[in-house]
Parts: sequence; structure tokens; C-alpha cells
Amino acid sequence: MKRIESAALLVRSVAYGEADLIVTFFTETDGKVSAAVRGARRSTKRFGGALEPIHELFVSLDDKGKELCVLKEARIVRAREGIVTDLDLMDAAGRALRWVRHLCPARTPERSAWESLRALLDVLDAHFPPLQHLAVFGLGLLADVGYAIDLERCVRCGKACPEGRPAFLDAAGGGLVCMTCGGARRTIRASLRTLALRAQAREPGLVMTPAQANELIAIIEDAMSAHADFDPHSAK
Ligand SMILES: [Zn+2]
Repeated sequence: MKRIESAALLVRSVAYGEADLIVTFFTETDGKVSAAVRGARRSTKRFGGALEPIHELFVSLDDKGKELCVLKEARIVRAREGIVTDLDLMDAAGRALRWVRHLCPARTPERSAWESLRALLDVLDAHFPPLQHLAVFGLGLLADVGYAIDLERCVRCGKACPEGRPAFLDAAGGGLVCMTCGGARRTIRASLRTLALRAQAREPGLVMTPAQANELIAIIEDAMSAHADFDPHSAK
């Protein structure tokens, strides 16, 4: 039996049976891990209200090699009260946690995604503009799990798109598609493409409008829908 002891974020909690919960954590050391918590809905005493998203947790789990681990301990080590007072911040945080839940494979450490998610929640907690930071996080998350959107070259023939030109973009297909290769339904303006490239490069001090961020988020969710059981129009 393996003991997992790690910093973690709760990315899902589903009622099960009469009083139980199935919880899914995104852990620093082991990636996404699920556990059954017996009687969790009957009494909150055992984990003292620690089974909450957004706050950073410490969890201890017994892993017997089955699909579900057994949760031994969960406590909040860093409360992010700044997020829970604002609906826009809550929404951005919830979306980031949902992306991670859908995109990160179970029991696969994703250190870079973990660090970016933790950093995103910290900037949201400090009331930075949520959409811009969510967009940068989403582009980075896709890259971290191996699904980076190619915004420089045609994904079919490899031809580079000249700088300063609009391009056809098939985000679900992985990136740009040149005219010769048939193009794509969506186009991306030169200015937005430049902005997205700078965001992908995690350029410090990047500023974008909420409208630009929302366009990038739509592209990100398109790309995610191709790689995970992710439906941007569902709240799950
Ligand atoms: Zn092409």
C-alpha cells in the first residue's frame, strides 16, 4: 500500500449512496486522485469543512491500487478568502478547476499544471483581472498536457503563417490550417494571434481586454473539447 501525502486542490465532489462522497483531488505529487469519503455528508466533523474547492489543502490518502483511495486526512493549509467574495473570481477559479479535472489524466503527476493552477488561484485571490489570467492559464495548461495550440504553423502541412496576417484556426484540430489545406471555419485576427503567442510564451506584464480574453477562452475550450470528455456548454 502506498501513502499519498500532498498539497491538493479539490476538483470534484459527487454525492454517493446515502451519506458518502466521491471526491477528486488534483495533487501536487500524484496528479488527479479520487477517493471515497464514508459518511461525509452525515457529519462534516471529520474533515472540518476542508473538502472545499479553491482553498489549498493538505491531504493524506491510502492508495491500495484500486480506482478509489481512502482519504485519511484533509485540512486547509491556505485559505483563499479573496476569491470566495467575488462571483467573477469564483467563476474563473471554477472554470480553471474544471479544465484541470477534464484535461489531466488520473494518477499522472502534472507539476507544471499544478504550479500554474496554484499561481492562478493566488492572483485571483489578490483580485487581479480574472479573464486575462484564466486565458493565459488555459493556453499554458493545454501545452502542459501536450495539446498546445499551434498558432504559428499549419497543422496539416507545416507552412508558417506570416506575422501580421489573419489565419484560419481549427482549435479542436490543434491549430492553424492554411488556405491550401482547406482553411477552417474560425479565423483569428493578426492582433489576437500575436497576443495568444505572447500569452503562450508566458510573457510577463501582458495586458488584454476582457473581450480579447473571452475570445481566447472560447478557442481554448474548443481545443479542450477535442481532447477530453469536455463540453464547454455543460456545467459539469
Ligand atoms: Zn497547410
